[in-house]
Amino acid sequence: MKTTLKSHYDVIIVGSGPAGLGAAFKVAENSNLSVLLIEKKKISSGGLRNDCKQNYTFPVGFPYEHWKKEEAEELLKEVRVHLNPKMETRQNIDKYINRAQKIGVEILSIDQAHVGTDKSSELIGSLIERLKSLHVEVALHTEVKELSNKTKELTLEDGNILCFKHLILAPGRADYDWLQEQMDRLDIAYSDNIVDIGVRIETREANYPIVREYYDPKILFPNKVRTFCTNSGCAHIVREKYKGYYSVNGHSLSRENARNDLVNFAMLKTIRLTEPVVSGQQFGKILGEMVMQLSGGSVIMQRVGDFRMGIRSKKETFNSDLYDFEPTLKSAIAGDLSLSMPAKILRDIWKSLKMLDTIIPGILHPSTIIYYPEIKTYSNKPHFVDDFFMVKDGYYIIGDGAGTSRGITGAWASGIRAVNGILKKGS
Ligand SMILES: Cc1cc2nc3c(=O)[nH]c(=O)nc-3n(C[C@H](O)[C@H](O)[C@H](O)COP(=O)(O)OP(=O)(O)OC[C@H]3O[C@@H](n4cnc5c(N)ncnc54)[C@H](O)[C@@H]3O)c2cc1C
Repeated sequence: MKTTLKSHYDVIIVGSGPAGLGAAFKVAENSNLSVLLIEKKKISSGGLRNDCKQNYTFPVGFPYEHWKKEEAEELLKEVRVHLNPKMETRQNIDKYINRAQKIGVEILSIDQAHVGTDKSSELIGSLIERLKSLHVEVALHTEVKELSNKTKELTLEDGNILCFKHLILAPGRADYDWLQEQMDRLDIAYSDNIVDIGVRIETREANYPIVREYYDPKILFPNKVRTFCTNSGCAHIVREKYKGYYSVNGHSLSRENARNDLVNFAMLKTIRLTEPVVSGQQFGKILGEMVMQLSGGSVIMQRVGDFRMGIRSKKETFNSDLYDFEPTLKSAIAGDLSLSMPAKILRDIWKSLKMLDTIIPGILHPSTIIYYPEIKTYSNKPHFVDDFFMVKDGYYIIGDGAGTSRGITGAWASGIRAVNGILKKGS
């Protein structure tokens, strides 16, 4: 049943991902302001509904341009209180760290918790119930169509108009174009020049045993290449639809599920564009569209054995002989990575994979699968007018869609910081 909405709220939050939730809890627990949390999906809560790995060590998820270690650590304490993480243990990783150091690679030691795709809805449900008990109104399946460029009002898809004193926009990455339109309407300056392009690796857990000791190893290679979002135990790869292309991504289920003994993780290279192309989103889209053309409308995959020999992977031979496990993403098309990926990105990622194979021998087993593309477009970085992510009086933009975070905990912390700005103003 849809919530009957009032016509005015002190604070309206758009988007119930971790950034929106962080803001909602902060304002509800620290003021008497009336709060409305709007979410266009039927179920809350953005990216929390995925694998839900939570990283609790700076700088993972906290872009340096917006965060200092001390502040991030302070806010992470508040994030912990709400997400109540059960920390993973980390053991015997010194041998990997030492090997890595010798070849100029850094392994970060990160505090992590993992919920699992099958369990995250329970967590989200309980967060929403707690918000309601704090008198936050939650409007699910309610989409904000546009913001007024004259008054502090927004229009919902159903035509309803709502007024606010403070507006916190937390629409996430997928809705970057909507956010861009709103910033244009409100005359808010922004830029967008970073994109992460890379591959997702899938292999047997035996070929990447570090995951038995460190759930999501954060490994930094030269040339801005890094590991990202490792899944193991009961892990699988998915294809996500973006506007005009697909990107791969990884999931794993909670520990209660039977293991499939596979592991997957991304190897991403950060690209910062300068003139004449300055849009990371546009660049990512162009590359994604090219893969769509080459794969007949999907994503591609290639076995390391084929890649090394410079031959394309083929459907007929994909699971033969040494290639001894089935890909978990059935819709990926066996193909040729080198035909689809810009040379500089491929070179840097392949070099990093070879370094990884030196640190953790086995990852470049011929059967290992490389999926492409994994594209992370980050943000339309708004021009903030203060330290609380305010873009103009009463308007705040936060989370992955605004480049203030790159993950669940950073997004939640961004919500807290924006509300700190509102509370500081005293109304
Ligand atoms: C498959 C996948 C797995 C991931 N796994 C992890 C992980 O394990 N650990 C981690 O730290 N990060 C992970 N991430 C990244 C993480 O999800 C994001 O960093 C985080 O969710 C960003 O939070 P956010 O609140 O900024 O945006 P989001 O979580 O994207 O939330 C934005 C919300 O706003 C809503 N919205 C958008 N526009 C409107 C509108 N006009 N009206 C109303 N509602 C609107 C959207 O529906 C969405 O629910 C993963 C991402 C994906 C896609």
